[in-house]
Amino acid sequence: MSAIAFDIPEEINLIADSVEAFCKKEVIARHETHHDLLNNPRNTYREDGRMSDATVEQLRAVRMASAEAGFYNVSAPEDLGGSGFGMLAYYVLLERIYRLCGSHNWLCDFVISHWAFGPSPVLSQITPRAREEILADMMAGRTCMCFGMSEPGAGSDAANLKTRAVEDGDGWLITGRKIWTSHIPIAEHVIVFAITDPDRASRKKGGISAFLVPTDSPGLNVESIICMQGHIGGIEGITAFEDVKVEPWQLVGKLHEGFRIGLFGVSMGRIFNSARAVGLARWSLEMAIDYATQREAFGQPIAEFQGVSFPLANSAMEIHAAHLMGINVAKLLDSGERAIKELSMTKAYSVQAAVRATDRAIQTHGAMGLTNELGLTEAYERVRRANVADGTNEILARTISQRLFKGDVAL
Ligand SMILES: Cc1cc2nc3c(=O)[nH]c(=O)nc-3n(C[C@H](O)[C@H](O)[C@H](O)COP(=O)(O)OP(=O)(O)OC[C@H]3O[C@@H](n4cnc5c(N)ncnc54)[C@H](O)[C@@H]3O)c2cc1C
Repeated sequence: MSAIAFDIPEEINLIADSVEAFCKKEVIARHETHHDLLNNPRNTYREDGRMSDATVEQLRAVRMASAEAGFYNVSAPEDLGGSGFGMLAYYVLLERIYRLCGSHNWLCDFVISHWAFGPSPVLSQITPRAREEILADMMAGRTCMCFGMSEPGAGSDAANLKTRAVEDGDGWLITGRKIWTSHIPIAEHVIVFAITDPDRASRKKGGISAFLVPTDSPGLNVESIICMQGHIGGIEGITAFEDVKVEPWQLVGKLHEGFRIGLFGVSMGRIFNSARAVGLARWSLEMAIDYATQREAFGQPIAEFQGVSFPLANSAMEIHAAHLMGINVAKLLDSGERAIKELSMTKAYSVQAAVRATDRAIQTHGAMGLTNELGLTEAYERVRRANVADGTNEILARTISQRLFKGDVAL
């Protein structure tokens, strides 16, 4: 039964069915077999907050199995060896994956290559030598990368970064500090954004370049892991760069014009976050419906109380709206539109709707909803983080209003 009248190509629906089967075999089964490693934070993480080697091995295994099965690179461009399906496929598959896997089968994060950690259109911009050196391993899921844009003094105002790449012989020396970089503790490469022309950068007319840097480069030091929302470990890190040498083959895109690569990547991140939010929200709503029909109070199922059922009706309305927005914007992007306003609206709305939906699902379950076992609080935390990552809700509202006042009032 579908509530969506949009025409999703049969090919994409078939891949989505196969991805679900893959997730049952490679993700959900893996979490059952390795429950004590993957779902007990004392084992998932080391004392210093990094993932344990055994955990990293598991997520690498999922990436590699997915690459082998043809899912990992489904939306990576064909010129890289990917399948070249666009944003609609990316959205539909991610939404299905999170709806199925929920929050505790978190290895599902590694089934489809995320633009920041794996092959994506961003990698089309690397040099021929870089392709030779890194592409085969990245496409096979053996290695991964991350995206170093944010700095202690440059978050929403990302162009205010201070990291410098100063010319040195035939290359550059990078010095600066990056923060919040997801996957830096486990990635083999990082795309680092640095000022190469201070004058242009100060006038906000380019002057920022992107470089592909191996994380074991001399001078690169992941100083600490950032733990969030009460967790004892994490995947975000703070990294110091001290005279890290890079050569011209490590340049990503054109010199002084790296910032637009960052913006492009973040746009893909907004599709990812929208799809994941809707998937996790649907997963939590379905759990709430199930529980409300079984749990009894005052002699009847709690679903009979409008105080319980009406909030779930609100979740359904909002999830449906977010889902339609997501499919719509993915189609716009695939047709070559930039869809700046629509993408901002979709991401902001989806993650906020998902926060409300996961919170209502927790409330429906009473005390049970607060247990680690159900994973609802983890789902809530994940979508809550997405209200900040890849453009905060306020920055997205700013973008939407800027578009409106430029006359883009198509709705
Ligand atoms: C889970 C997670 C993963 C992340 N992963 C990465 C990563 O891999 N790589 C990377 O480079 N970065 C990453 N980030 C960083 C992320 O991009 C920044 O957190 C985000 O850009 C916001 O910057 P900030 O946290 O410094 O907040 P700030 O920019 O300091 O904002 C603080 C508050 O002020 C508001 N604000 C700021 N400017 C305005 C304005 N003009 N109008 C209205 N309100 C405004 C913000 O909305 C926010 O509420 C990640 C963040 C999170 C939470």
